Amino acid sequence: MTKYNSRNRITKASNKPVRIIECDDILDIKEHHVIEYSWVLQLEFRSFKRLENMIDIKPPRGNNFDRLLRASGLYPLQAKTLDTIQINVGKLCNQACLHCHVEAGPRRTEIMSKDIMAKCLNIIKSEGVSNVELTGGAPEMNPHFRWLVSELRNNDILVKVRSNLSIMLEPNFTDLPEFLKNNLVEIIASMPCYTRENVDNQRGRGVFEKTIKMLRIFNELGYGGSGSPLLLNLVYNPGGASLPGDQISLENDYRNILIERFGIEFNNLFAITNMPIGRFKNNLISDGTYDKYMNLLVESFNSRSAQQVMCRNLISISWDGKIYDCDFNQMLDLACDHGAPSHIVNYTPGAMVNRRIVTGNHCFGCTAGAGSSCSGALAIKIDARK
Ligand code: SF4
Ligand code: SF4
Repeated sequence: MTKYNSRNRITKASNKPVRIIECDDILDIKEHHVIEYSWVLQLEFRSFKRLENMIDIKPPRGNNFDRLLRASGLYPLQAKTLDTIQINVGKLCNQACLHCHVEAGPRRTEIMSKDIMAKCLNIIKSEGVSNVELTGGAPEMNPHFRWLVSELRNNDILVKVRSNLSIMLEPNFTDLPEFLKNNLVEIIASMPCYTRENVDNQRGRGVFEKTIKMLRIFNELGYGGSGSPLLLNLVYNPGGASLPGDQISLENDYRNILIERFGIEFNNLFAITNMPIGRFKNNLISDGTYDKYMNLLVESFNSRSAQQVMCRNLISISWDGKIYDCDFNQMLDLACDHGAPSHIVNYTPGAMVNRRIVTGNHCFGCTAGAGSSCSGALAIKIDARK
């Protein structure tokens, strides 16, 4: 049986009193120790070697996320079902935003072919998947985008498009809103703030104005109204290295301000955490704030959010047909593993349900505070079901 010992100490690394836990096997730490344990992790991020010298136990190495999962009784993280497939149809984008974890931009050449799309379609149909999310880059820029949407809708599959909206003001794309409406496609649009300054700082000069213009166009088409089947959802993410605020309060603020200032309606606001990967991670490293941000994510680990992480219900397919547990793993090129197929050419029906999920320390971005997913906060969904 594991024996625990704990004591307080002022550390040189943080100048704060910290409870240090000693035990026979650190992997046996239970849920009620998670708070203290996260302090240990915090120190490890800041000063791994100093911590090792300071206490008698060996601090955890490697995948610290799995260690907290174990402490929460969730290890190994396993999928529950497969109700959604995300397809990243390419990294080409008309924007190059600071926080972009895809590192998308106008010069990217990775684009999904029609042949790969057709294979994805076969998997979707054979699995009876009811939701498909198209992402990019700007997914609309894939030359086969309309073909894929039409095929999915012909098979009664609900299609969601994650759009930056501004692409639909570019030549050759201005008729897309009508096309999306005719196919009852749900729009999920990035809008990190309701002020011009913050949006333009994060997403590029002039993006705020284009976003407002496009939201009005979608409203005129019938999107975003209460009770309308044409769903228009907005995505908020913090401007820097902090966690998003409360999703419900943010949604109320957005609703009041967008209707008052611009006459714009929308359905839901999804508050998401910036993931410590890709361009956002590079910016944190160049600002010298990467360690601080990781500490914040680790300290804020919430086992209720961890229960609901989106990889338990979906898979993500990249432009070249590789299969991932989520969009973030895709960006890190951590393909499905532990016996699950990692490419659509090896796909076998039913292979993804109950698969073991590939995790890493970036997963703390999904489990911090109220949690984060492509559909916003996670823990409030649990609360809402209570
Ligand atoms: S965040 Fe979205 S709009 Fe911005 S560069 Fe990335 S894919 Fe494009
Ligand atoms: S980063 Fe991906 S694999 Fe990790 S918890 Fe989040 S959704 Fe799951």
